[in-house]
This record gives sequence, C-alpha cells and structure tokens, in this order.
Amino acid sequence: MTRQNLEPAKAQRIEFGHQSIQERIKHFKDFTIALTDEQIQVQVRRCLHCGTPFCSASCPLHNRPVDFNRLVRDGKWRAAWECLNATNSFPEFTSRVCPAICEAGCTQYYLEDAAVGIKTVERAIIDRAWLSGWVRPAVAQQKTAKRVAVVGSGPAGLACAQLLARAGHDVVVYEKNARAGGLLRYGIPDFKLAKELVDRRIEQMQAEGVKFELATAVAVEKFPLGVHSDACKVIEADELRRNFDAVVLACGAEVPRDLSVEGRQGKGTHFALELLQGKNKVLAGEIRQAPVSAKGCDVAIIGGGDTGSDCVGIARRQGAGKIYQIDISPCPPEKEDKELTWPDWPYKLRTSTSQQEGCERLWSTATKRILLNDNGEVRGIECVKLDWSVDEHGRRISKEVSNSRFEIAVGRVFIAMGFLHAVPSLLDAFGVQTDARGNAQAQIETGEHPFATSVDGVFACGDARSGQSLVVRAMSEGRRCARAVDLYLMGTTDMPPWR
Ligand SMILES: Cc1cc2nc3c(=O)[nH]c(=O)nc-3n(C[C@H](O)[C@H](O)[C@H](O)COP(=O)(O)OP(=O)(O)OC[C@H]3O[C@@H](n4cnc5c(N)ncnc54)[C@H](O)[C@@H]3O)c2cc1C
Repeated sequence: MTRQNLEPAKAQRIEFGHQSIQERIKHFKDFTIALTDEQIQVQVRRCLHCGTPFCSASCPLHNRPVDFNRLVRDGKWRAAWECLNATNSFPEFTSRVCPAICEAGCTQYYLEDAAVGIKTVERAIIDRAWLSGWVRPAVAQQKTAKRVAVVGSGPAGLACAQLLARAGHDVVVYEKNARAGGLLRYGIPDFKLAKELVDRRIEQMQAEGVKFELATAVAVEKFPLGVHSDACKVIEADELRRNFDAVVLACGAEVPRDLSVEGRQGKGTHFALELLQGKNKVLAGEIRQAPVSAKGCDVAIIGGGDTGSDCVGIARRQGAGKIYQIDISPCPPEKEDKELTWPDWPYKLRTSTSQQEGCERLWSTATKRILLNDNGEVRGIECVKLDWSVDEHGRRISKEVSNSRFEIAVGRVFIAMGFLHAVPSLLDAFGVQTDARGNAQAQIETGEHPFATSVDGVFACGDARSGQSLVVRAMSEGRRCARAVDLYLMGTTDMPPWR
C-alpha cells in the first residue's frame, strides 16, 4: 500500500456528530448523532482488512472489527451483529462509553492518524440489532442444578451472570443499590449512556433466568466514607457460601481516594460520585433533589481524569459558573511518538466533550488547602505549581516550584482522584487474600484456576480484582470469569477460551 492511495482515507474518518454546546448543556441526555448508513459504508470501506489485525489484539474483548467491517460492507448486518455478539456481551455500552482502545491499534491510525471509526460501526450494528429484534433472550436449553451468586451488578457482574445463566446455572445477582448496573447506572452520566439501554439488558437477562436481589448488601453493614449504599438488608458471606455452589465477587473498587488537606471537612467539598450519582438518581426519578449541586457556584474539580471530566459535564449542565479541573500531572504531549507507542494506547492530550463545554484545566498543580469562610463553607482552594522530572531509576518525581502558591475562589470542590480498592470488610468477610493494593487477589493469565481467589469456590473479577479500570476490561473479566466458574462447577466447559 502506498501513502498516495491512503490519502482519501484520511479525509474520510467520520466521528459521531454532536449537538452544539449551547444546545446540549441545556439537558442531560445523549447528545451524540449516530452516523448515517452512507457514512458507515465510508468507514467500513476504509478498513484495510489487515492480515494481523492489531485492533482485535488491542481490544480487551478481542472484538473482530476486520470481520464485522467486511460484513457491514457487504450488507450482511445480521451476520455482523453475530460476529460482534460473539465477543462482546453489551456492545450498546462499549460503543458509547469505551475510549476505543481498538482505534489506537488501527493500522490507519498508524499510517494516517485517522483510524477507521470502529466505535461508530459497532454502535450502528448493535442499534440495528436491537431495532430489528435480533437481540432476544438466549434461554438455556438444559439446567445444571448448580447455583451461582454474583456480588455486584456492574459490567463485570452482568457479563459474568449472563454467560453463566446461558450455560444453565441458576444465577442470583446481589446488588446493594436500588437498581442494577453498577457504575453504568450510578456513575457514568446519562449524557454518555442513557439508562434505558441498561434497563433493556437487565430485562433480557431476567428473561434468561437471572434473578436480581436489589438493595441487598452482601456482608457489609456500614460502607466506608464515599461509598453509597441503598441497602435495606444484609446477607452474610457464610449464607451465600452455604446456599451457592460458587460465589463471584464483582463488587467494584469503590473506595475513593481522599484528599487529606486542611479544610477538607468544610461544607461544600464532596466526592465526585456524590455529584454524579445524585444527578443520575434525580434523572431516574429515584430521588427528588440531588444531595449536592454545582448550580450558581464556581467549582474546582480535583483530579484530571475521566471521573473529573464527567463532573465538569454535570456541573456545567447544573449551571455552575467557572469550572477548574486541577491535574497534578503535567500536560501530556499533543501527539505521541507512534514509533514508540503504536499499537498501544498512547499517552497524549485528550479533551473530552465535557471539557470542551467550558473548563480551565490547570496542569502540574497540587492542592495544598481548602479555604473556608467563617461559617466553615468552602470559599476557595490554595494551590502550588509542581516541577516534574525523572529520577535516576526512571521514575517521575515532582517538587514544588518556590513562590508558586496561588488561590482560586470557588464555592464547591469535588474530589475525583480515583479509587483505591474494593471495600475491605466485604473481602474480609469471605476471607479472600488481597493484593498489595487491597483488591481481591486472583490470577488471570497464569495458573490452573483463573479468577479463583484464595477461598475455594469464591471468584473475583472486574475492578474488584484489577482496581479501577474500564467498562470494556470489566466486561472482558466478567466473561472470562464465567468460563472459569463453569469449568469449576462442571469439570468441563463449552465456553470458548476468550483469549
Ligand atoms: C464516574 C465514572 C465514570 C466512568 N466512565 C467510564 C467511561 O466512560 N468508560 C469506561 O470504559 N469506563 C468508565 N469508568 C470506569 C468503569 O465504570 C468501571 O471500570 C466499571 O464500571 C467497573 O465495573 P465492575 O463491574 O467491576 O464494577 P462496578 O461498576 O463498580 O460495579 C460494582 C457493583 O457492586 C456493587 N456492590 C459493591 N459492594 C457490594 C456489596 N457488599 N453487596 C452488594 N453489592 C455490592 C456496587 O453497588 C456496584 O453496583 C467510569 C468510572 C467512574 C467512577
């Protein structure tokens, strides 16, 4: 292939359309505009059908874009959905919230900086599949009489429960919150993922025999600060172990990293999820008023990642004034050195749609104090600039820039500094060993029993095992864990090894 005959391809990468910023910040709904059939044809025809498809290798689910692109190109939409469905439990979620790691591995991205729009094609396939009635309950033909309890209904728990039920096991999902979905439901804002899509999947799974025990906490009476629970009953770990043949811990890594600085206890500082969950619950009609709002306030969001970016989008829609997103790290480069990084996910500057809606990003900035007024309410933050360098061991280190202190006047502070690990008392109740970071210890790549914890019959997957990650990785772990559980229960399994 020559550079010359690839030139038109570059011009033809088409991203999702978006409502204008002025329009979309008036509401909390999905504001993306899917591609037309003609645009999808342009995308799939740009696929080079590489002999070694790095896109598949990059995707944690090992989706097969080369195959489904070809099927869509040939008008074989149902076969394209079957291809996607073979590797991806919930493409309607990933085609909306995934950062599209596959596209970073696309050869067109390497050659021309313009990957095939794999995510847009994925969404076109799954949306058509639902509309056409192809996505139907896949009820097991034979039951095994084995019972599995899944703790947590996020993407890991759902993906795991779905496959186990289809394999004929009786599956009960225990969820401490009022509705199923984990962070898909109570973290990711509606404008990124409409909750009707989650409801539709849950209904399909119920029709396949999965039972959901909602507002039921497993083993934990009192959750740590920053971890929300709607539970009105608690079921003990021993009871689950007695009543089920296997237990899967898919309980996420919910304990948030806190900011221990003077003024943290003042009124007006909240964990990010208090803002995000609260708004999602209001929009779902679960509560009338959000526990916290950014309306009319200037806001500082501490943490430069995706959770922080979601806070920007919600705060903007609630009518915040100025929004600052504080990042301790230096500003990444605008472009990566592909010779060094491709086909891996590159470290480079990314600007989310929420950030485009209006926020000032402050890089290499550490928060020293939260400033309070005489009533103990937040009136600002005091920051300092950092100078980053690399030490003799290749580790990034920072030191404060002298005389760089400055203040920002804000009325709300949201802490979006990531998540530490799963809730310790839950893991303790099952007696499972934890890793150095406090998550459930279970091997996935090696060993005879992947996803098995130190306790016989207890498995762990998703963020509860890996630490805070991505929907696509949680789903991938849930699927592979289902296979491990099936093998444990039956001594053999028909589920293909996913990798
Ligand atoms: C604000 C935010 C936005 C994000 N946005 C994106 C994004 O756009 N794209 C992306 O790919 N990733 C995103 N992520 C990351 C992604 O959501 C997670 O990696 C993923 O949801 C992890 O799935 P999981 O099933 O392992 O855990 P979770 O989704 O956390 O689900 C765990 C579930 O277990 C339940 N649970 C916990 N303890 C108990 C107990 N004792 N008893 C009963 N139930 C219990 C919890 O209530 C929860 O519902 C985001 C994360 C956050 C916080």
